[in-house]
Amino acid sequence: MTERSILVSVFTLPAPLTATVAGAAHPTRATFDVVNPATGEIFAAAPDASVADVDAAARVAHDAFPSWRSDPAARRVALHAAADALDAARDEIVPILTAEQGKTLAQSAREVGVAAAYLRYYADMELERQLLRDDADAVVQIVHRPLGPAAIIAPWNFPLIIAVAKIAPALSAGNTVVLKPSPYTPLSSLKVGEVLRGVLPPGVFNVLSGGNEAGAALTAHPLIRKISFTGSTATGKAIAAAAAADLKRTTLELGGNDAAIILDDADPAVVATGIFARAFHNTGQVCVAPKRVYVPEKLRAAVVEAFADLARDARIGDGTDPATQYGPLNNRSQRDRVAELVSDAVSQGATLAAGGSVIEGSGFFYQPTILTDISDGVRIVDEEQFGPALPVIGYRDVEDALARANATHFGLGGSVWGTDPERAATVVERVEAGMTWVNTHSATTFDQPFAGIKWSGIGVENGRWALEGFTEMQVIHQAR
Ligand code: NAD
Repeated sequence: MTERSILVSVFTLPAPLTATVAGAAHPTRATFDVVNPATGEIFAAAPDASVADVDAAARVAHDAFPSWRSDPAARRVALHAAADALDAARDEIVPILTAEQGKTLAQSAREVGVAAAYLRYYADMELERQLLRDDADAVVQIVHRPLGPAAIIAPWNFPLIIAVAKIAPALSAGNTVVLKPSPYTPLSSLKVGEVLRGVLPPGVFNVLSGGNEAGAALTAHPLIRKISFTGSTATGKAIAAAAAADLKRTTLELGGNDAAIILDDADPAVVATGIFARAFHNTGQVCVAPKRVYVPEKLRAAVVEAFADLARDARIGDGTDPATQYGPLNNRSQRDRVAELVSDAVSQGATLAAGGSVIEGSGFFYQPTILTDISDGVRIVDEEQFGPALPVIGYRDVEDALARANATHFGLGGSVWGTDPERAATVVERVEAGMTWVNTHSATTFDQPFAGIKWSGIGVENGRWALEGFTEMQVIHQAR
């Protein structure tokens, strides 16, 4: 592994970023600090929304709803304009995203581009009125109605892609939005709020940063009619409970602990390269990434060695350094959690094939880590590590591998790897997960449903399924 020298981030915000409510800057009484994970230093402050601020945003979203919902043609034009505005502001947003999240500048640029593309994709999509029946008795039609103001609550690993994957279908379907980003990564969302002032009608898109209390106030607000949340399973359950009191509609995209199963006909170097790229992307902070690898005992040594070589060659460093492949963990507590899970595994007999240590310095860096001589029942196998440490577990036969892969409450993704794709496809159908892959993992597109099963989520994102999730069905039955 090549440890990059940790650059002192010179990035400072040209001006403090503000919350957006009713298409204008919204002052808050308090602010909170935002830390650059590459340096461990505070580099900015973000508005800390109070319950009163949340109330103000929900009210303006409610007031903006009737006119926004009534004009689909105007929505189409506005969403295309919003996409163009994001593209035009890319160079301003990218350094902000890297400074608060830690990912490389290239990955931040891609994230802004994908966010703009989501807006374009949904700008032109609509749920057509459906004629169900037209006979001697009746004409029956189905229409989809927007729900009202939607709360969108996002995590810190892909702050913009995850938020805009919700905002775009929400707005396209005629809802209005209050976005609350993670307190670890509020700035890129606040910036998007500023960029879209004057592009979207006032009140249609509001952005408030704040802590978990602001999120809870938003989910409990009586004017909010839909909650679309991505984050941990624990928070998802709290949100489901809060929503139940008012029967608010929810879409919950939650944690995962995806298994990658390697079959005995696999080429160790080929599959290790494919799995490593997906497991360590974004420094392992990807919901739908391989988080445990099951390999036949006879291939284990070769696969572990191939993974260890890749881990040792990985270039870790500040996201602003063009040579960096993998940035820091986003925050100190996540870095400490990964370190704790690795130490726990080693204390229970696991072998470190690569890595296993915090990279000293003020940033939140951790060595890419490969663990083996490990099995189910150890925390790093059973829990979601969400970081750059991968356990490689030997299995006896395919039945054994599937039983272990499926023995979890999680059900986000899963993959099967081998030289015979047909054989791998028959195995992957038995993986209990919402998204499954053969010889790849985490591959998603705008039109491919994104959905977890079991404790990994409720509801579907992407494609027309996301639009359906931001609407409710109305039956219009006309008697003849
Ligand atoms: P988190 O659950 O701690 O926080 C997510 C968001 O919820 C933040 O904005 C936070 O402020 C807010 N929040 C916290 N408590 C709240 C409450 N009671 N009411 C309302 N809002 C509240 O998650 P995180 O640590 O930011 O993100 C990491 C987790 O997200 C991982 O488990 C990861 O797997 C998951 N994730 C899932 C997906 C997916 O699509 N399934 C995608 C990315 C991340």
